[in-house]
Amino acid sequence: MSGAECRACGNRRLEPFLDLGELPLAGGFLSDASEIADERLYPLEVHVCADCGLVQNVLPIAPELLFKQYFFSSSTVGPLIEHFKGYAEFISGALAVKTAVEFGCNDGILLAQLKARGVKAVGVDYAENITAIARGKGLDVVTGAFDLDCARAIRSRLGSVDYVTGSNCFAHNHEPGAILEAARQVLAPTGLLGLEVMYAGDLLEKLQWDTLYHEHLTVLSLGSLSALLKRYGFKVVDVFHLPMHAGSLRVLASPDPNRQPNARVAELAAREKQQALNEPATWHAFGNDVRRLIDAVTSTMADIGARRKIWAYGASGRAALWLSACRMTYVERMVDSSPLRAGTLMPGTHQPVVLPEEMRKNPPDYVFVTAWNYFDVIRAKEEWYRGTWVTPLPRFEFF
Ligand SMILES: [Zn+2]
Repeated sequence: MSGAECRACGNRRLEPFLDLGELPLAGGFLSDASEIADERLYPLEVHVCADCGLVQNVLPIAPELLFKQYFFSSSTVGPLIEHFKGYAEFISGALAVKTAVEFGCNDGILLAQLKARGVKAVGVDYAENITAIARGKGLDVVTGAFDLDCARAIRSRLGSVDYVTGSNCFAHNHEPGAILEAARQVLAPTGLLGLEVMYAGDLLEKLQWDTLYHEHLTVLSLGSLSALLKRYGFKVVDVFHLPMHAGSLRVLASPDPNRQPNARVAELAAREKQQALNEPATWHAFGNDVRRLIDAVTSTMADIGARRKIWAYGASGRAALWLSACRMTYVERMVDSSPLRAGTLMPGTHQPVVLPEEMRKNPPDYVFVTAWNYFDVIRAKEEWYRGTWVTPLPRFEFF
């Protein structure tokens, strides 16, 4: 048990189930070798709440430190562009939203799609470098935290809005309550809060321990998210299971106590109960399975790395976890198509990040696909490659 407070229900009955030791921040790319001496590692221990089932890291790191210079620019990832196009259609079409606020707006990938459909939308994000990109596209973006002050300022400028949303960033916050208070502040009484979050059900089923990096402070289920929303006066009224980031939920919540949840909400709640998704015993078993996988990848790849040239592909947040937890210092290069990351060094293991052209010039014997959730896209893009692909998940496999 840890003495920390659960971020969803507020109780103090957290049980550790996976200790990953000291790891670098998944987004902590280094500009060059001179930064290696000052690089910090942080303990990464994952807990489950015995009361509401929320999966969480209990050691908070200041968001300023995590997200000030963020090397993940959504608009460079093809499948994400498609996702946000569909989401913008859903918001402007099915929900008939006219005004919206998006927190964690990144480079404006959703805001631009909303604007194109006539929705008046304001974005909020911590990252200075990324919000500068969004502003360069002519989007209305605030740099900073989405808190009560920010929500009041937006409200006095635009009035209350129909929709508040955050995609794949809500779980990055140590104080999700502050976001929910801000959302209530700026949302019209008939409005909706829409959260897209990585889903604990997919984490469990697909053994995706590599999404449990420091930045992802919580992994939500319908059960744990409902407990959290209820504390701040929101009620879940609809839910969708999405393929984004290898499995997410889109949850719609209303501040109106009279609105009733639909059948999809009841169905998913029943499924979570059947899977024992919100039970600590489930997560202790998960922790043992993860340990076994990490040990298998560590020893197998080290044997190959002693004899053959190995590169890795996809410098997503997952990459730093695989390379560091499996001690893959023998991997020579990290291939990634984002120009923001090219030229940097991987956190922890310090491989240079290079653009895909480099791999074509100098093909390795093996490519370890750290962005395994985009393997189909990557393999189709690098059709010319005749060496061996290795995916650590959904199965540890060679192709
Ligand atoms: Zn809890």
